[in-house]
Parts: sequence; structure tokens; C-alpha cells
Amino acid sequence: MDGKMKYEPVIGLEVHAQLNTRTKIFCGCANAFGGEPNTHVCPVCLGMPGVLPVLNKTVVEYAMRMALATDCAINRESRFARKNYFYPDLPKNYQISQYELPIAEHGQVTIALEDGAMKRIGITRIHMEEDAGKLVHDEYQPLSYVDLNRTGVPLIEIVSEPDIASPEEAASYLRAIREVLRYLDICDGNMEEGSFRCDANVSLRPWGNETLGTRTELKNLNSFKYVESALAYEIRRQESLLEEGQAVIQETRLWDSAQNRSFSMRGKEEAHDYRYFPDPDLTPLIIDDVWIETIRKTLPELPGARKDRFINEYALPFYDAGVLTSGRELADYFEDCVRQVKNPKLVSNWVMGSLLGLLNAEGKTIEQSPVSATQLAELLTLMETGVISGKIAKTVFDEMVVSGKSPKAIVEEKGLVQVTDSSEISAVVDRVIAASPGEVEKFKAGNTKLMGFFVGQVMKETKGKANPEIVNRLLKEKLG
Ligand code: ADP
Ligand code: MG
Ligand code: ZN
Repeated sequence: MDGKMKYEPVIGLEVHAQLNTRTKIFCGCANAFGGEPNTHVCPVCLGMPGVLPVLNKTVVEYAMRMALATDCAINRESRFARKNYFYPDLPKNYQISQYELPIAEHGQVTIALEDGAMKRIGITRIHMEEDAGKLVHDEYQPLSYVDLNRTGVPLIEIVSEPDIASPEEAASYLRAIREVLRYLDICDGNMEEGSFRCDANVSLRPWGNETLGTRTELKNLNSFKYVESALAYEIRRQESLLEEGQAVIQETRLWDSAQNRSFSMRGKEEAHDYRYFPDPDLTPLIIDDVWIETIRKTLPELPGARKDRFINEYALPFYDAGVLTSGRELADYFEDCVRQVKNPKLVSNWVMGSLLGLLNAEGKTIEQSPVSATQLAELLTLMETGVISGKIAKTVFDEMVVSGKSPKAIVEEKGLVQVTDSSEISAVVDRVIAASPGEVEKFKAGNTKLMGFFVGQVMKETKGKANPEIVNRLLKEKLG
């Protein structure tokens, strides 16, 4: 935010993460995205009278994993509650959620700010609930269909404290939460498919004020970009209201990404509107210490810890460590490669540069990389041992991507082995010097920048294969 602003933005996020369990939260139906409408359903998730929900133990364990990974305290007793409301995608007319006693509370995640400082964002609570179905609106007629495949898909809702101070921080917080979910392998974090959703609450207050201003809640934010632009828009909108002496109305607003503006959807609902009460069909959930410790032991190294380790163990810059640990598979790839080529910074440069550049351009994930960690390691070893130059390595890399061949095979086939024979290079250097008397004269008169020209000529003649150090040394000797 620019320093001119009179008001301090205050942001709190509610994140819904669909858990990737095999079955739904209260029945045995498949928990799978898509599928023919209304095929992953049964009397329980259709909300037929007389059926009983049975809690999926894996859902509880996934929620515990997230709670432990975000330093939350796990409640030894938690409860499911009915959140009552009517909507065509909710056949029971209530959603089973947790209210007064969620599974976990009082957690935190750490995000890196733009200036490199770290900031703690508090997590108020994590609770489990079931997802609702989906309304599918006909494109051509005023007609809507109900697809209940999604009813009963397990969700955890992660509610942050209003600790977030800018749209950029909101995006980093979301990225951090998504990284943790992915490291834990409990949610795929796909915002477009809706398996990772965010509602953003924002208010303004005069700088230095303790009390929070009136907030609005933004829905329908299905990309990181939309979260940022919707919050920035909303901050500007609230600011101009306050500037004009008008009040911000507490309400829910929808973000319209096509028009780049939000508009009012409905007045803010209050908890009492939902008539929450404990679900009589589900007993209190009791979690003991033994269970918690069992789950704790299954946690992988988390992104924050792994990033710190990358900085300490591999002496990588903060930036590199952040990029390389942004996904578990990417971090695994990097470490696999470093085990084979003991030069972390070189591997980091290649992974962040050539490899991620390629994957981004082709819209691929690291698992779909056409170059395996072992292949990249082989290429970098050829470079490290002086068989090929760095420049040639780039050519070989491009060729590996196209043909899938091993770097050694490509180097042999195309005769790309670096020339380190001084007498061979010396002959080329002599030819280059003889062919450019004008440049030689200027060089001797003090235009040392021309060194680059001579090196370039030698490289051109040797098709990039001459060892650059030897070229430089010979040129200096002969010109100098
Ligand atoms: P709900 O929106 O479901 O009523 P909560 O009252 O728990 O739920 O608040 C939801 C989110 O709104 C939390 O992330 C919280 O930090 C944030 N929040 C609450 N009050 C404010 C405020 N005045 N300004 C900005 N964010 C707020
Ligand atoms: Mg809310
Ligand atoms: Zn079912």
C-alpha cells in the first residue's frame, strides 16, 4: 500500500480446502471431481430421511495433520453442528459443520514480506465440514440443474486472524497455506476446480486505531490474482466511502473478474441466522494424545523448515530456497540432483532458470518434466568436469527436451566435446588475430573492450566448443 493512505487495511481470510480422501466425509461415496452429475451419491449424502452420517476417520486425521502443521492446539473434544439454511444444492437444508468446538484453534503460519522480513499470521480455527452440491446453470435457457456429486465432500475451513495488512500479504498467506496442504498431500490446492477456495474479509481503520472497522466479505475469488485485485479494489472503494464521510455497510460482495469490480450480493448473515445446534446424529469427537502423536510422526518436513534447511545446508540464497521449496516434488527434484552433482548453487540456477522456464512455458508440472533429475545431473556433471562448456550445456539441454536423449549421447553424436587442447585453440587464435588487423591495432591502442570481440570470433570458429579460460589466456598472451 502506498504511504499516502489515511487508513490501515485489515484483512482476514477464510480458506476452504477440499480434502483428497478416497470417500466422502459421512458416507462411502467416491470423493472425485467431475463425473456424470448425480452419480457419486447415496441416501446419506442425498439427505434422505432416516439415514445416519458416519464420520470418515481419514478426514479427522487430515484435519489433524493441517492443525499440527500450522501449530494449532487440537481440541481433545470437538463437536459437529448443524448450520441451517435453505438452498437447492443442500438437500438436507443444513450443512454439517463445526461451530463452538472446532477440531483445532490458535495456530499460525509465517510468510515472507517483500522486504524479506518474516511475519506471523495467526490462525483462529480449523474446522471440518461437508461441502454442498453444485447448481449448473443452462447457458441458453433460464434453467438450472442440481448436481449433488459434491455434497458430502470433506472440507476443512481455515480461518485466519485479521493479521493481514495488504492484498500482497493475503496472496502470500494463501500461497503458504496451499504449500502446506500440498506438502501434507491432503488437498490438491486447485483454485480453478474449486478444491481450494477463499473468502476475503477486509476493513479499514485510521492508522493507530485499535478497534476494527466495518468489514465486507468478498466471495468468488478463484485465483490468486483475483484475491489481490478484489482486495485492492475493495480497499479503494471503502477508502472513498470513508473519505466522503459515508459508512461501510457490512455485507457480502461478489467479485466480477470480467468487469474488475465487486458488487453487493447480500447483507452479511449472522451466526444466529443459521440456528446452529449440535448435530444429534454425531457423537462428540474425542481425540487423545496417543492419536495426536501418531499423526505428528507422519508429518513430512514442512515448507518453512525445508526452506531454512536449504539455506543452511546448501548455502542457497533466501530467494532460491523459497522457489525450490515452493512444492514438495520440486524440492525433491532439486535434492535428487544435488546428491549427484555436489554443487547446489549450480543446480539451483539450472532448475530455476532453464528447467522452470521450460515447464512454465509448456504449462507442465515438475512431475511432467521431460528432463529427469538424473539427466540434469548428468548434464551438469559434463559441465563441471569440463567436458562441455556452459554455453554448449544450454544447447544440449534444449536438445534433451526435444529428443529425450541422454546428454552424453547428444554430446557424442553432435561432437560437442569441449576443446581443451591448447595447441588446437592456439592455431585458431592466431588465425583470428591475423584476420583482424584493424581490431588488433585498436586493442593495442587501449581499447580493451575489444577482448570480447576476439573471444567471440574464436568461439564462432570453434562452434562454441573452445574452453573459454584457455581462449582468454591465449588471447591475452598473444595480444598483449
Ligand atoms: P464469518 O465471516 O463466517 O461470520 P468470522 O466472524 O469468524 O466468520 O470472521 C471471518 C474472517 O473475518 C476471519 O478471518 C476474521 O479474521 C476476519 N475479520 C473479522 N472481523 C474483521 C474486520 N473487522 N476486518 C477484517 N477482517 C475481519
Ligand atoms: Mg465469513
Ligand atoms: Zn453418499
